[in-house]
Amino acid sequence: MPGYKPGDKVEIETVDGKYTGILMERPELADDKHVVIKLESGYNVGISLDRIREIKKIEARIKRERFRLKRHKRDPSKRDISILATGGTIASRVDYITGGVHSAFSAEELISAVPELEEIANIQGRQIFNKFSENIIPEDWIKIARTTASEIKKGVDGIVITHGTDTMGYTSAALAFMLKTPVPVVLTGAQRSSDRGSSDAPLNLIHSAIVASKADLSEVVVVMHGEISDSFSLIHPGTRVRKLHTSRRDAFRTVNSRPLGRVSMKGIEFLREPKSDNKLKLDTKLEERVFLLKYFPGLNPEVIDNLVELGYNGIVIEGTGLGHTSELLFERIKDAIDSGVFIAMTSQTIFGRVNMNVYSTGRILQDIGVIPCEDMLSETAYVKLMWCLGHTKKPERLREMMLTNYAGEITERSRIE
Ligand code: GLU
Repeated sequence: MPGYKPGDKVEIETVDGKYTGILMERPELADDKHVVIKLESGYNVGISLDRIREIKKIEARIKRERFRLKRHKRDPSKRDISILATGGTIASRVDYITGGVHSAFSAEELISAVPELEEIANIQGRQIFNKFSENIIPEDWIKIARTTASEIKKGVDGIVITHGTDTMGYTSAALAFMLKTPVPVVLTGAQRSSDRGSSDAPLNLIHSAIVASKADLSEVVVVMHGEISDSFSLIHPGTRVRKLHTSRRDAFRTVNSRPLGRVSMKGIEFLREPKSDNKLKLDTKLEERVFLLKYFPGLNPEVIDNLVELGYNGIVIEGTGLGHTSELLFERIKDAIDSGVFIAMTSQTIFGRVNMNVYSTGRILQDIGVIPCEDMLSETAYVKLMWCLGHTKKPERLREMMLTNYAGEITERSRIE
């Protein structure tokens, strides 16, 4: 609105009555036919412009809330961790005067927002980029892996990566393949933004900092709320973790395995033996032309031809049950494989192991050359196929690599099945 700035205290007379409050910044997704003001009560109201009779400015822009930064002094008795921000809601704070959301990335800002962090470790903060995780692309995984490796080289004792929750499982799998790490690399996020009373951001950050600074573990893990209350968080292996709920604070679960452990204010309890001996190794070779295709009844078989024409070198098919597609696809799949495309199979059941020996459908697909992905998550198989194709295009070697357990993504078959 011309003549008014976010932060101005205004009185708005509408056809339904008067409202007094502070003019808010226009939310990113709002239309331009409404204004939003924060009432004295703390609630926000949106007012349609065509209902407004008159607006009076009562007080010019109230000074933006000063976010007081605490000076951070290194304590030599504590371990050092780096918090690397990539975006999402976790490392943000709301300016209650203007309603704007601001990123909190420097060590001082993070500690000021979550003072408990300073009790746990010496914190350094760094922003890699600022993206919603649905906008993250494979190139970003490489950036995160490189920055993480360079922080580890500087000698920190652990890394926390803050990340949007939507695609955190893809990034954690990518990092697990690209990075062998001597220190904990912990991804965390928040299901509820930090301006909500129910936000899980502070506790996820605190629990992640505990794992990064105190756990004797050399793996990429995800630390997120273990149940809806603030009692504990789970430590999930990076290649096994999936967001299984749109909004619950305990949306993240380990699939086809057990979480590595739990973390609470009392400390860390491992549920199984963590890895603790890796030397730093960064291997970011990726073939990006890989497609993840969900099979569904009625899928047009020509889709496979189209993917080949588009230049994809690998396709992960998320098949039905034990690892199947309709027989109508067999010929197209065979042609694709004969033309040099690698095709791997996961299951849309999510839980359980692909077994393509049970039914003739599975056996035919195997004979054609489809690689069964054991008990890998589809997202993990997709990332792994990219990583393996970054290393070889030889069919036998590729198959061998896909079936080798590099980062905890495959469970050894039990003898009794
Ligand atoms: N879609 C956003 C993301 O994944 C949601 C916010 C969040 O989860 O942090 O980045």
